[in-house]
Amino acid sequence: MDLDTREWQRRDASHHLHPFTDHQQLRDKGARIITRGEGVYLIDSEGRRILDGMAGLWCVNMGYGCEELIAAAERQMRELPYYNLFFQTAHPPAIELASLLAEVTPPGFNQVFFTGSGSECNDTVLRMVRHYWACQGKPERQVIISRRNAYHGSTVAGASLGGMRGMHEQGSLPIPGIVHIDQPYHFGEGQGMSPHEFGLARARQLEQKLLELGPDKVAAFIGEPIQGAGGVIIPPESYWPEVQRICDHYGILLIADEVICGFGRTGSWFGCDTFGIRPDFMCLAKGITSGYVPLGAVMVSDRVAGVIERGGEFAHGFTYSGHPVSCAVAIANIRLMQKESIVKRVHDRIAPYLQRRWAELSALPIVGETRGKGMVAALEIVQDKHSKTRFPATAHAGLTCREFCFDNGLVMRAVGDTMIISPPLVITETEVDNLVDLARRSLELTA
Ligand code: PLP
Repeated sequence: MDLDTREWQRRDASHHLHPFTDHQQLRDKGARIITRGEGVYLIDSEGRRILDGMAGLWCVNMGYGCEELIAAAERQMRELPYYNLFFQTAHPPAIELASLLAEVTPPGFNQVFFTGSGSECNDTVLRMVRHYWACQGKPERQVIISRRNAYHGSTVAGASLGGMRGMHEQGSLPIPGIVHIDQPYHFGEGQGMSPHEFGLARARQLEQKLLELGPDKVAAFIGEPIQGAGGVIIPPESYWPEVQRICDHYGILLIADEVICGFGRTGSWFGCDTFGIRPDFMCLAKGITSGYVPLGAVMVSDRVAGVIERGGEFAHGFTYSGHPVSCAVAIANIRLMQKESIVKRVHDRIAPYLQRRWAELSALPIVGETRGKGMVAALEIVQDKHSKTRFPATAHAGLTCREFCFDNGLVMRAVGDTMIISPPLVITETEVDNLVDLARRSLELTA
């Protein structure tokens, strides 16, 4: 179908309920219709080129229009477009991808459970940790500790594990057995403390919560190495070592939600490599296929997998767990990342360049802080730079900035008044320059 923008918008508003969208606003303004992607650029129904500073939803790591991925999908569709992994069957793409994931993930991870998305990974992990403790003869270890403002997906378990107040209020969540502690957000919540002290204090809330609940009731702690959707919350360096120490000391399982951080985003293959975390589970999605097709994978450490394998049938799985086309695309994506040494390129060249250019925005009068790691970055819009006072919520400074960005040809995301970017890993220096210029222009208009 080739319609004009107004007709696309009319049909969209008439028949389509969007995720995370206020439909009144959508009806007033009409959706932005994205029709094509090319490298790091999107093309909309008006033919405008827009630099995708978010790589879709933090996922199109290898950029749009990648021939290797397209060819892998086509080949697999012809060969075997669907089969499942239930009831003692398997197919070559799932087997090959499982081996490849064992190769690229940290030592001690040799087993994978496939899902169709990041949310399904977190649903799986919730059931798997409880199953693990039941197999260990400790079924009373049920509670999973997470963090306020974390994002772990939109299914009932994912949204419960997440710490988004708005999501909890709409769904009578969290479900029982999930509790939340505070996040390590120094700019927003760490006034009067050094980052080091604040990181330790926030990590030690885990110990306090464990002692309050009784360590023998707690199954696991879950965290994103860097909280993405919460606003690119990069924990102080003291945070993860202390969390690791506490998990080890009390013998609780550690789940790293790597759905955003995995596959090069933080400058290493995984966020756990960047922060020196040694988890028991890693949840992977998004960048595993560069977002071309849906896929999730729960990496299960040898220690945990050994127990689960002896525990009889794990009654869990999805029709699209390890879909063959998704696995074929993931294999092509990871092989391409290896062939082009993309993680090394990110670490040595493009991430340092992006971070240096991004930090220049901190000189603007409405920017209270810039921060970043690898290929994610954020900045805080403030009314008063010195006291770091925010604009009144009614000013919607973040949303205003996001609209100026889009009008200027840049996708930048607003989380309240925190502006965030997560561009494709294949972005060039010239494209980074363009991104920073467009962001600067939009921030100047917002002020
Ligand atoms: N976990 C994290 C850290 C995420 O950022 C997301 C999505 O943004 C999810 C889980 C959920 O993934 P999905 O949307 O594929 O279900």
